[in-house]
Amino acid sequence: MKEKIYLSSPHMGGTEQQYIVEAFKTNWIAPLGSNVSEFENSIESYLRKSSHVAALSSGTSAIHLSLILLGIGRGDEVICQSMTFSASANPIAYLGATPIFVDSEAETWNICPHHLEEAIKDRIEKGKKPKAIIAVHLYGMPYRVEEIEAISKKYDIPIVEDSAEALGSSYKGQKCGTFGDLSILSFNGNKIITTSGGGALVSRNLEYKSKAIFLATQARDDAPHYQHSHIGYNYRLSNICAGIGRGQMEVLDEHVSLRRKMNVFYSELFKNDSNITVFKEPSTEFFSNHWLSCISFKNSDKNFNPDGLREALMEENIESRPLWKPMHLQPIFKDAPYYGDKTSETLFNNGLCLPSGSNLDNQARERIKKTILAYTNS
Ligand SMILES: *Cc1c(COP(=O)(O)O)cnc(C)c1O
Repeated sequence: MKEKIYLSSPHMGGTEQQYIVEAFKTNWIAPLGSNVSEFENSIESYLRKSSHVAALSSGTSAIHLSLILLGIGRGDEVICQSMTFSASANPIAYLGATPIFVDSEAETWNICPHHLEEAIKDRIEKGKKPKAIIAVHLYGMPYRVEEIEAISKKYDIPIVEDSAEALGSSYKGQKCGTFGDLSILSFNGNKIITTSGGGALVSRNLEYKSKAIFLATQARDDAPHYQHSHIGYNYRLSNICAGIGRGQMEVLDEHVSLRRKMNVFYSELFKNDSNITVFKEPSTEFFSNHWLSCISFKNSDKNFNPDGLREALMEENIESRPLWKPMHLQPIFKDAPYYGDKTSETLFNNGLCLPSGSNLDNQARERIKKTILAYTNS
């Protein structure tokens, strides 16, 4: 069997283990220590825009805490981009709130401003104003920042910016992770950088950071004994994992540029193929980290379709994956309200994510190219 080519696998920079050794030497084998604060500092200076960062155990826990900080609870409604990974929406359900799903638009694949406003108006008319908007930069592509922010201001509904896939992306030169009232990052194993597992909550509001850390460390009141006036969580990032993060931050920009090169590789590969388009920025204002490079098929039939290509790649031990299946089509969310025109459903039916790692070499690229051309030319 040929060596497996993954969709997106961890790619160490080299200094990560030094920081882990440091944690052992100082005996901070705990969810606190200097790696945690240094990792936070390095993300803060990377994002700029006076961001305050709380390192957490996952991106999902960061979304959960964001919603808690916005005061969301039982019976509330929260708008969420439908086309996304389930972790964007699950925390709404943790809190006993109802997700209201909104479709994507065709250029960024992210939340559609038109359907977002339609959803807000209709929910208000039905008697409940949504309490937050969860917008996602899918595959690293920034959402329509200005249009979405304008709607958020007009109706006074805060944005939770799900930037789990978009560390290193930017819109008009401003980094993703700095646009929401609260923003979240993920450092899971397959993301642009990894701490093996981890995430962060980001905000310009320092109070949100302190409150997030308070809630993430079991919500202990200021007393010598254990006293609690809030329900707490065990959501802080470990000092070992944060050590990996420190090393990863040193190579983030290099890895973004390598992922973007993978996107150029696919653009070249498909440039004369009128049936397949590579997902790209709609204008130069958008800068995607191209966490995953995706394609969509214009005309599929039973012999030529995304699933056929996926299987042809699998035969060669090359991983590819369908796009995120929209949340309004998921069994678990089938009763949740949805506003849209099936754009995300069409994308899901016609798209495919291709191997995109920053650690793929020429040999891997040649194998991918050969397999894809054998399928598209057959
Ligand atoms: C990965 C991901 C998350 C969750 O992050 P974890 O660190 O895996 O909990 C949330 N939203 C999106 C869009 C993601 O891709």
